[in-house]
Amino acid sequence: MSTSQPLQNIRTAIDAAASAANRAPPRLLAVSKRQPVEAIRALAAQGQHAFGENYVQEAMAKREQLADLDLEWHLIGHLQSNKAAEAARTFDWVQTIDRLKLVDALARRRPPELAPLNVLIQVNIDDEASKHGCSPDQIETLAIAIVAQPRLHLRGLMAIPAPDPHLERRAQAFSRMHTLFERLREGHPDVDTLSMGMSEDFVLAISEGASMIRIGTALFGARPDRQC
Ligand SMILES: *Cc1c(COP(=O)(O)O)cnc(C)c1O
Repeated sequence: MSTSQPLQNIRTAIDAAASAANRAPPRLLAVSKRQPVEAIRALAAQGQHAFGENYVQEAMAKREQLADLDLEWHLIGHLQSNKAAEAARTFDWVQTIDRLKLVDALARRRPPELAPLNVLIQVNIDDEASKHGCSPDQIETLAIAIVAQPRLHLRGLMAIPAPDPHLERRAQAFSRMHTLFERLREGHPDVDTLSMGMSEDFVLAISEGASMIRIGTALFGARPDRQC
């Protein structure tokens, strides 16, 4: 079981990066995919509230096993339309909206007794053929469709830049995301979340304006191999 050191170290690094960039510290999303529920419990006991999962089924099982804790669950993996109903029930946030079909499916399936589902539009910022996410010129169309849905709450944008070893190019991708985020905010002033930066590059993402970073390995250690 992990000690409290990694979380403290990350929090210290977040505060240092934010203060160096003269920005507010971003929210920390703990990415718990493929990590056991005990590891999530250990972090929750240290005050970590928000957790990110990539697979709907895995998140459903974990949420059930951790129902005694008041945690916030984010979907950060690609969502297939046929899983939209389960996702709309299971998560507090879906960060990976990248097409109109998902907007309708999630809005229709969000249970009425739950608060509106928080959503981010995922942008394929490096235009990688292999990656999910919409192109920058599709953001506004998606945003308009989302805000028309009372069961959805548009919170902002999310991106996974290409793992370019040249940090300067990753910084440029983060910076382009920040520009897109500011543009989105002009038309939708209550948008407040720019989710970008992972274990390797979160300091860079914070200096370019991330308001939420998604950290797995640096918090939990390496992920166990997939079992299913
Ligand atoms: C796995 C994952 C992360 C966390 O990655 P680490 O390098 O382990 O910090 C963040 N965001 C997304 C979308 C992921 O799939």
